[in-house]
Amino acid sequence: MPELPEVQTIINGLNKKVISKTISSIIEKRRGTIIFGENIKICEFGKIENIKRRGKYIIIKTSKDLKLIIHLRMTGKLIFEKDLNNSSSHSRAEIIFSDKTKLIFDDVRTFGKIQIINVNKTINSLQKLGVEPLSNKFDAEYLKNEIKNRKAPIKNVLLDQKVIAGLGNIYVAEILFRAKVHPATLANKIKTTDLKRIVSETKSVLQEAIKHNGTTISDYRSVEDKNGEFQNFLRVYGKETCECGAMIQKIKQAGRSTYFCEECQK
Ligand SMILES: [Zn+2]
Repeated sequence: MPELPEVQTIINGLNKKVISKTISSIIEKRRGTIIFGENIKICEFGKIENIKRRGKYIIIKTSKDLKLIIHLRMTGKLIFEKDLNNSSSHSRAEIIFSDKTKLIFDDVRTFGKIQIINVNKTINSLQKLGVEPLSNKFDAEYLKNEIKNRKAPIKNVLLDQKVIAGLGNIYVAEILFRAKVHPATLANKIKTTDLKRIVSETKSVLQEAIKHNGTTISDYRSVEDKNGEFQNFLRVYGKETCECGAMIQKIKQAGRSTYFCEECQK
C-alpha cells in the first residue's frame, strides 16, 4: 500500500505533469470508482490549480471550485499518458485533459476511490486524520499526549491514521528499528527518551524515502510509471538477517506482518 513517501512522490510527479491542465472529462471505467458529493452537478471541471497531500490522500483543486480526493488504498496508481489511445489493463477511471493527454487511475484490487466534492466541503475520513508527521506539530509532546491512555502496542498506535497521518506497515517497521523500540511495547509504557527517538526517526525515514521516490515492493509506481528506490535502503522490513547478525523476527500484529530484531529492539 502506498504510504506517505509514495503518495508525496506521486504528487511531486503530478505537479510536473498535470498542473494547470484543463480537465475536459472524467471517464469511469469501473462502476463505483468515482463518488460524487452532494449537490455536485458537473458541467465543467476546470483547470487543475493545485495538488496537495494530506496523510495518504491526494487532493486536487480545480478552478471550478471542485476537489478531487483520491485514495490509492492497496494497489492504486496514477499514470500520466501522452497518447489518448493508450490505456492500462486495470484502468478504473481516466481524467482526460484538453491537450489530449490523460491521467489513468489504475487499480488491480479496486479498493481505490476518487471522490469529487465542492471545494468548501470535506469528507469525514480527512477530518479525522491526525498530525502530519513531517510538520512541526509532530513532536514528542504530541505523541506522549496521544498515547498516554493507549494500552495497545506502539506499532498499532503508529499505524493509526487518527494519531499520525500517512504511516503504514513498511515505514513503521523501519522507524521502530531505527529507534530501537520493540514493536509490541505498550504505547503508554514508552519512556520519553524513546518517544523522542521515534519522532526524530519518523521524520528522517520519511524524508529519506521521499528523496528516493518511495519504496516499490509490489505495485507502487510513480506518475511516470517508474519504481521507487527506497526498498534498497530498508533495514528490517522484509529482511531475514539483521545488521547485528541476529535473525529478523516476523510476527503478526493486528493482522499485519511486523518485522523486528530482538537484539536491537528491546
Ligand atoms: Zn539486530
